[in-house]
Amino acid sequence: MPPSGRGRKTGRFKGRSGRRFKTLGPETGPCLEISLFSGYHPRMTVQDQSPCLTIPRWNQLSFLVHGFGLAGFGLRGLKSLWPGFAAVMTKQTHSDRVVFLDGPPDKEVKGDGLATDRSGLLLIVRTADCLPILLADERRRVIAALHCGWRGTVQRLAEKAVALLHGRYGCEPGGLLAAFGPCIGRYCYEVGQDVRDRFAEEGLPIEVFDIHPHREGKYLLDLQAANRFQLLRAGLDPGNMNFIGDCTHCEPRMSSYRRERDKAGRMLAFVGIKPF
Ligand SMILES: [Zn+2]
Repeated sequence: MPPSGRGRKTGRFKGRSGRRFKTLGPETGPCLEISLFSGYHPRMTVQDQSPCLTIPRWNQLSFLVHGFGLAGFGLRGLKSLWPGFAAVMTKQTHSDRVVFLDGPPDKEVKGDGLATDRSGLLLIVRTADCLPILLADERRRVIAALHCGWRGTVQRLAEKAVALLHGRYGCEPGGLLAAFGPCIGRYCYEVGQDVRDRFAEEGLPIEVFDIHPHREGKYLLDLQAANRFQLLRAGLDPGNMNFIGDCTHCEPRMSSYRRERDKAGRMLAFVGIKPF
């Protein structure tokens, strides 16, 4: 069982399906529940002084570096941590566009996905509540980084990215690893009827929405589950998906647009193929 974190009381919360979820205590609300997925759920603890969270399984991948930076960990910190890389970011527009890179771009590119099979490029997505997803194919040595808010999700960015990686690099979906970074959790992400309607129109499962317990006409969206569904449909093995379960809205060391509004910084999720 993962550690429950920071000495807070734990409690029991009955989820919508009747399953019992172990949760952190009332200071953070019921968002940080543990048993939604079968993947590993690293937890931050007071002992953690690293500015980045990583997935233990991905730490074993010798050909790449990866991480999910906490609030305040910026480009300067990232460059000093991995000085051998060229950092690449896009102008994120909540689209389904994936940019393929053979080298550092000479001008700003627009898109919400980055992919490469070249070493020395650090692919970066910036988030504050949206979901960052990293993809890696160990056999073909291919990586990708995706920025999945609800708009990118409803445009099926994650699902399309897997098909594009197959077409461009020959990546077999069953061999792809996916690392889900921290995002706003399923008990904090309030959305309107319009968002739920868009998912239904696109043929995406509306089971990822819960009726809001207190606000009429509002729903709660499980962004991780919505994207997990897409990756499963695209052919990924559920055992190849790992998740960082912390909720950006509940965790003060993370950036949250919903909590901080215009004052919110952006957290950096990154992956790069080692040039050495
Ligand atoms: Zn939360």
